[in-house]
Amino acid sequence: DALITRTPSAYEYPLLIKNLLFCPVVDTPDQEIVYRDHRFSYRDLRQRVARLANALTDLGVKRGDTVAVMDWDSNRYLECFFAVPMIGAVLHTINVRLSPEQILYTIDHAEDDVLLVNSEFLPILEQIRGRMDTVKSFVLLNDEPTVPESHIPFSGEYEALLAAASDQFNFADFDENTRATTFYTTGTTGMPKGVYFSHRQLVLHTLGVLAVLGSSVSHGGFNRQDVYMPITPMFHVHAWGLPYVATMLGVKQVYPGRYLPDHLLELIDREKVTFSHCVPTILHMLLKHPHAGRMDLSGWKVIIGGAAMSRALCLDALQRGIDLFTGYGMSETCPILTISHLTPEMLELSPEEQAVIRCKTGRSLPLVDLKIVDSARQEQPRDGKSTGEIVVRAPWLTQGYLKDHKASERLWEGGYLHTGDVAVRDEQGYVKITDRTKDVLKVSGEWVSSLELEDIIAHHPGVAEVAVIGQPDEKWGERPLALVVAKPDNPVTEKELTHLVREYADKGVVTKQVVLLKVKLVEAIDKTSVGKVNKVALREKYL
Ligand code: ADP
Repeated sequence: DALITRTPSAYEYPLLIKNLLFCPVVDTPDQEIVYRDHRFSYRDLRQRVARLANALTDLGVKRGDTVAVMDWDSNRYLECFFAVPMIGAVLHTINVRLSPEQILYTIDHAEDDVLLVNSEFLPILEQIRGRMDTVKSFVLLNDEPTVPESHIPFSGEYEALLAAASDQFNFADFDENTRATTFYTTGTTGMPKGVYFSHRQLVLHTLGVLAVLGSSVSHGGFNRQDVYMPITPMFHVHAWGLPYVATMLGVKQVYPGRYLPDHLLELIDREKVTFSHCVPTILHMLLKHPHAGRMDLSGWKVIIGGAAMSRALCLDALQRGIDLFTGYGMSETCPILTISHLTPEMLELSPEEQAVIRCKTGRSLPLVDLKIVDSARQEQPRDGKSTGEIVVRAPWLTQGYLKDHKASERLWEGGYLHTGDVAVRDEQGYVKITDRTKDVLKVSGEWVSSLELEDIIAHHPGVAEVAVIGQPDEKWGERPLALVVAKPDNPVTEKELTHLVREYADKGVVTKQVVLLKVKLVEAIDKTSVGKVNKVALREKYL
């Protein structure tokens, strides 16, 4: 085609992760990256990334090899986010909360060549090491003053290897479609599945997220004045890609290690953190902590995602001046697909009205082609009522599951990625997740949203936590079963909750089938490895 000219390859500019570093190291070389008692600058980051690249190369890491990390959130992890893909290797972020057997499975399946491991996980490693087929060298990550005893033949300790390496490395250009990262879904059913992302995908995801966060003037923006701290782990979906966004912006970054509520609160206070992201259960835990009551959390911007946020939690946070809004995505999607910023007009609404919008998952990011379709793949009207499955195309979706052709074909059936999430979209384009296809209930022939029921029940002042599952029933097909953890100081009764739900049904807010609700008070609600309600485990336990 004569109209399409191709740039001579010498001038081609591949979208590589290394290019995200150009601006911050020049513009904000003295900006801080904080971990424990250490304060690094972006100048240090550049040098340490080069040192790590040299150290890994000396260990024999070549293009296409896989380097795996077992660590809590740290500056080291950030350095791996850059150095590993920048030398053309693949970064495997290991979910340290999986069971040892599942961890072993992911290490073998991803064919890891080198493993960087925090001394805290040595007991797990000792347990599975004899059965690892591919790992050739181990690097120790150690925060303690002494080196722990172990039988693992470490090639060295991270800081010592970096100190011995040169701070200059010539990072070559290569194809932007080179795989940069891989990690595994949390695998609540069966073994975890591997997803993977290229340099091009991660760069475009970074720009897509920044296009939304960086351009929001009324609220929920992310810019150079912010102080960033992740509260969704770097081992799961690149901490939602925000460490790349934060680095490209050149903001101060705080890495909290393992998530302990008092430590997180102390860091927010001490380092003046202004921008974070977390799952609802963690926010709930932070707000309930006695220290939170004494702190001024106003102005803290938090993206909530990974699971639906209840209006009750949203209102609680809004009352403390926290600017919280929702993001939606999944492991397969890098992850972010939508963000729920409010328009200036919406910000004039009452907190209750705002909470309804902030709990929706918001509008698509630029370049994201997101559709809600019925079972015949017809797009549903944008009326806030018609439900369907979310299917999506975007520049940053996994091209499949690692070494699992059948599952990949199912994921991408018909040329769109199938999320397995059920949602509605309103006239203004705001998407609201109503369920996962496997969690939605069919009660007496009507679809009932478990998330909607949870939201109503969570609103009761005596409820600490709730999860709704479907109980098979001969007469009705399924009946909603609400598992409820009552607040110790203000315990709720089962009757009060069935009454509450009936009121909503009488007002026509929810379908009348919900009156078939059964309530069971329980001590605790099972969570997955990343702190989300584990409905698979709950079904096994209570049905
Ligand atoms: P897992 O599938 O193991 O839970 P993911 O982190 O990939 O791990 O979870 C993605 C899923 O989490 C989505 O498919 C969706 O069901 C749910 N999810 C993510 N964000 C939201 C949100 N803002 N509201 C409701 N559900 C969400």
